[in-house]
Amino acid sequence: MQCTCGATLPEDARFCHRCGRPQFEEDLTRFHEEQVVVPPPQPPQPPVPPIQARIDFGNRRAVLVSIVIAMLTLVLFTMCAVTIPFAAGILLLPLFCLAGFGAAYLYIRQTGEKISPQSGARLGFMTALWAFLVVVLLSVLLAVLVSDPGLRRELLSVASANSSPATQELAKLLNDPRKFILLLMGQLLVYFCLFTFPSMLGGMLGVRFQTKKQ
Ligand SMILES: [Zn+2]
Repeated sequence: MQCTCGATLPEDARFCHRCGRPQFEEDLTRFHEEQVVVPPPQPPQPPVPPIQARIDFGNRRAVLVSIVIAMLTLVLFTMCAVTIPFAAGILLLPLFCLAGFGAAYLYIRQTGEKISPQSGARLGFMTALWAFLVVVLLSVLLAVLVSDPGLRRELLSVASANSSPATQELAKLLNDPRKFILLLMGQLLVYFCLFTFPSMLGGMLGVRFQTKKQ
C-alpha cells in the first residue's frame, strides 16, 4: 500500500506517516472539506464618519427648512411692521439673526447631521435669500403698479383718503414714479444686506448652540 506522496504504508494505516494524508475514503472527504480555506477574520474597519450632506439648493431638506423659516420670518416681520411701524427697520437685524439660528437649529434637529458653522452660515444665507426673493417679487409688483398711470391715480386716491404721515409720504413719492422705482431698487440692495448678514451669523450661532448641546 502506497500513499500519493510515495511513502509505503502498513496494510491498515489510516493516515500516511510522512505527509499526514488520510487513507480512508470518509477521512479523505473530511480532509478535503477542511482544506476549504477559512478566510482570516477581517481587521475591524475604522468607523466611517457620518456622511455630511452639502448645504446647498440641491439638498432638499435644507431647501425645505430654509423656505419654511423664511416665510415664518416674513410673517413675523409683517406683524411687527403693522404693530410698531417705526421700529420695524431696526427689528430686521435681530429677526434675521433669529431666522438663521432657527434654520440651523431645525435642520440639525430634523436630520441629526453634524454640520459645520460654515454650513450653518450657508443655511442662513439660503433662508435670507428666500425672504429676499419674496421682497423682490413684491417690489417688482409695486413698480409695475406705480408705472401704470391709471393704477397710480387709484393708489393716490386711496392714500389721500388716509391721513397718516406714512401714507402722505408715500403719496408724495407716488407723484414721481421714476424716483420711486429708483428708491425701491436702492432699498432692495439694503434689504439684501440686512437679510443675509444677520441670517448667516444666526446660522453659525445655531450650529454652535446645537453642537454644544449634543
Ligand atoms: Zn503520504
